[in-house]
Amino acid sequence: MINPPENVLTTTEFHWQLGLLQNLDVGLVVLNADHRVVVWNSFMSNHSGIADPDACGRQLSELFSNFPDEWFRRKLRSVFLLRNRAFITWEERPYLFRFKPHHPITGVAEFMYQNVTLIPLSSPNGQIEHVGIMVYDMTAVAISQHALCAANEELALLSRTDKLSGLSNRGHWESCMRQEYERFRRTQTPSSLVMLDVDHFKKINDTYGHQAGDEVIRTIADMLRQHARNTDLPGRYGGEEFGVLLVNTDEDNAVTFAERVRLAAENMKLRHGPHMIEFTISLGIAQVSNDHQSHEQWIHDADKALYASKHNGRNRTTLAGDLE
Ligand code: GH3
Ligand code: MG
Ligand code: MG
Repeated sequence: MINPPENVLTTTEFHWQLGLLQNLDVGLVVLNADHRVVVWNSFMSNHSGIADPDACGRQLSELFSNFPDEWFRRKLRSVFLLRNRAFITWEERPYLFRFKPHHPITGVAEFMYQNVTLIPLSSPNGQIEHVGIMVYDMTAVAISQHALCAANEELALLSRTDKLSGLSNRGHWESCMRQEYERFRRTQTPSSLVMLDVDHFKKINDTYGHQAGDEVIRTIADMLRQHARNTDLPGRYGGEEFGVLLVNTDEDNAVTFAERVRLAAENMKLRHGPHMIEFTISLGIAQVSNDHQSHEQWIHDADKALYASKHNGRNRTTLAGDLE
């Protein structure tokens, strides 16, 4: 028996290797210098529904509608000319070939996410006359990554939100105040802060119970959401004290906002079991200024104005600028 020289495949070995390539769970395509298909394995046939004889001799743009032809030609050119491999990840482009996903666990995906590798294939003469395309199904990875991102976003939102009122919690609200203060230092465009606190809230809790008190807190949060603009930021500062950052708003406009909310609270009749609960709020306003050395000082000024409202009889609005 004569052994073939090293590096030369026997027909049998060649047959096995072809069988392996055909049955690989990876898409394999070989394109010639005219970008026409010369190899199309069963992964490609099964997922595209295009049989091997129908694919061979055709360009990819003839086989798939909406194929990103121009972009792909640029990639191919660099593989042919520079003899470099090229990688296309699903994060950069979700797929090259639009295939339906087939894993049962990835039922939520609309298409198969793919990583694609382009490989220069040298002929015996050393020339690059073919390019190999390998297509990996990344759907399971992409789906779990998306689920992880969604869960992280949900967690981030929860960590910024006050559970009872659904408004920003104090930590997040204060960090927005800091950012707004810093923006003011750069741009000098006015913003105002309205702090408000429920009058005699302890009495509401004592008379109607803690749950009724909670209902009042939720109602005020709804009123703030209703009256604030999209760019404003209401937050729960403490028990029954709230802060509303009014971006790009001077103190006169802040007074209009504050009075609207104050009157809405005064006119609110909240049904709680057999009771109708009425309540009022006191408010303090501070427009940010260069006298404030920090966002904390700005909050402190609005708080001082709020306590002046308390001191002067409650159910009223006070401007920090009007205090001594
Ligand atoms: P003032 O008009 O001076 O603001 O009087 P007040 O009774 O509203 O003020 P005070 O700060 O003495 O009372 C606030 C009360 O709010 C005390 C606390 O038990 C209650 N409280 C704080 N957080 C909550 C909450 O989440 N739910 C309820 N129901 N009550 C709360
Ligand atoms: Mg109070
Ligand atoms: Mg209070």
